[in-house]
Amino acid sequence: MIKYSSGLLDFHTHSTFSDGSLTPSQLVSEAKKTGVSAMALTDHNTISGLEEFQAACRKEDVFPIPLGVEIYAELPSEIVTPEDNRAPDLVILGKNVNPKPLYDYEQNLLKYFREVFLFESVRKLEVLGFKFPREKVREQYEILQRELQSPPKILHDFIGLPGNREVFLRYLQEHEINDEIAGREISFMNKYLFAIGRPAYVDRISGFNVSDAIVLAHNMNGKLFVAHPGGRFFGALRPEIIDYYVQAGIDGLEVRNYFNSNEQNSNFDELARKHGLIRSGGSDYHGANGISKIGIYDVPDNQVPKEVLEELVDNLPN
Ligand SMILES: [Zn+2]
Repeated sequence: MIKYSSGLLDFHTHSTFSDGSLTPSQLVSEAKKTGVSAMALTDHNTISGLEEFQAACRKEDVFPIPLGVEIYAELPSEIVTPEDNRAPDLVILGKNVNPKPLYDYEQNLLKYFREVFLFESVRKLEVLGFKFPREKVREQYEILQRELQSPPKILHDFIGLPGNREVFLRYLQEHEINDEIAGREISFMNKYLFAIGRPAYVDRISGFNVSDAIVLAHNMNGKLFVAHPGGRFFGALRPEIIDYYVQAGIDGLEVRNYFNSNEQNSNFDELARKHGLIRSGGSDYHGANGISKIGIYDVPDNQVPKEVLEELVDNLPN
């Protein structure tokens, strides 16, 4: 273990199995090249990439967290405000891959995306002037008969259609949003279009709350972590929301993340200590589909502390 904590630690990454641009094998090679020595693959709502991920880690001599997946949940409507910006992203990490409990979650999500999310999103985006050829929507509907696509992937695929980027840039201009990142990076449309209270926001999940997510994680022999609590570009989680997670019985917190700022990091360490939460963290790397860099979190001291590897692994159930 000591050997693996000598490099960078990255327990939040995405591959082509959700909305990342690299396959798990490419992701691990890239990580290795950058100096990552231990990592987790945490694709949205799926563990299908884990087999390839683990094989690649063995080949590259990178320590893998065997189970990793990022899931959605709902917050109680009485505590959410438009300022909260994003519904919960929660990461499950574990020592063993136990896929069965995830199956119902995936099937319900698949049905919800196909029957509600897809059409609601298209309807709201069309009101804003985005255009979607019917066959493209049908194609997406058909994919959703068979396999789960992450909402970011569905929406970014649509927004990426010819002409739609211009609609988005015009939208920024009309609303006097002067944000260089938003114009440059497709994933930052999240902030202006798809966040809570924004014009194209549609719930990403229905009837599945944080307590359900905790039960799911534990049934998978994993622990549940709050992802990117900092929200450097989106707005940080309000203390009330963090309190809610703690009271619900969340297991851990990403004390480091590309989206955390430096001063937040020491607060998160403190918060984890105070509430007995397991520390984790990562880059939230999406390859070319995002802005973060693997293993490196571009504000100073924003790397997962070396001691977290042992702390994390020791605290994951067998
Ligand atoms: Zn993520």
